[in-house]
Amino acid sequence: MTGRFDIEASDGAARAGILHTAHGPIETPVFMPVGTKASVKAVLPGELHDLGAQIVLGNSYHLYFRPGADRIARLGGLHRFMGWDGAILTDSGGYQVFSLRDTAAIEDDGVEFRSVYDGSRHRFTPELAMQIQRLLGSDIAMAFDECPPAGVEREKLQDAVRRTSLWAERCRACEPAPGQLVFGICQGGVDLELRERSAAHIVSLGFDGHAIGGLTVGETREAMFETTRATAQMLPAQRPRYFMGIGDPEGVLEVIARGVDMFDCVLPTRTARTGSALTSEGRLNLRNARFASDERPLDEGCSCPACSRFSRAYIRHLVNQQEILGLRLLSLHNLRFLLDLVAAARQAIERGEFLTWKDEALRRAKGANE
Ligand SMILES: [Zn+2]
Repeated sequence: MTGRFDIEASDGAARAGILHTAHGPIETPVFMPVGTKASVKAVLPGELHDLGAQIVLGNSYHLYFRPGADRIARLGGLHRFMGWDGAILTDSGGYQVFSLRDTAAIEDDGVEFRSVYDGSRHRFTPELAMQIQRLLGSDIAMAFDECPPAGVEREKLQDAVRRTSLWAERCRACEPAPGQLVFGICQGGVDLELRERSAAHIVSLGFDGHAIGGLTVGETREAMFETTRATAQMLPAQRPRYFMGIGDPEGVLEVIARGVDMFDCVLPTRTARTGSALTSEGRLNLRNARFASDERPLDEGCSCPACSRFSRAYIRHLVNQQEILGLRLLSLHNLRFLLDLVAAARQAIERGEFLTWKDEALRRAKGANE
């Protein structure tokens, strides 16, 4: 049962499915809030559940250094440690290692880098990345991959694809935690020939799902959407597809339209901490003076704890006075907004009206911003 992915409806390339994990079924398309350090910032697990979150992300790199994967294992695993009984996906730490690539020595065996915590030297290998995720006990572990920034020369991109394939094989050979699914990652930047090569090899290894990595690293939006469309078609329809690192409302709907089932991003909570709200009429910067006497909720159609009780004027006041409650309320609202948006997208796919619904939602968000 674990690992089964049932597609219940599709509309164009968009699909509505159910992925079965060791911590229950997940309805897709699904947005996964990010809890890098075993915490979705300022939000309680019970609140996440009430907001409609089904699965959250944890980060192997950060948890390996603080408080340590062994320690979390001894304390009963990541679910118990962070008090979350829904599903958890852990990333492999590859992205963090490579986003600090100035200090990284990349070899076929693994990557050497300095810890962001204390500058000490460390070495990550595919085997270590899988071992960390096994100790954390996540429901979905990610293969260790090389993620180069946008715009690198083709030779480097090609090398990253080759190494990602090599590492994927080694990750596949590792024993996962009981019930743990393992996803492979396709690289290749916006080069469709390399994408094809990467996808073919990753798919041949028989992973439980496939991720489109190496995008939103600096390429244009247009190239990112086109690469997503093409890559999704290279990945088997009967397995879930995960786009790593997208969470703006427009981006989310556009990748769903291209056949993506899962995605994650810090955007809702990070936007909240800058004093902005995501709404059906676009983004609102609560610091703007026009909200000073605005008695309306952040979004008329939202039933989150912020919108059901508080006005824009009050939340603006909290933000301006740097009251912790302000960022809490905005975090709860932004997460609810995105989770609701994706749930509505799923319903539109089931009705066979996804594209018209999407265009209307995007027009509304844009129109209000002009
Ligand atoms: Zn709300």
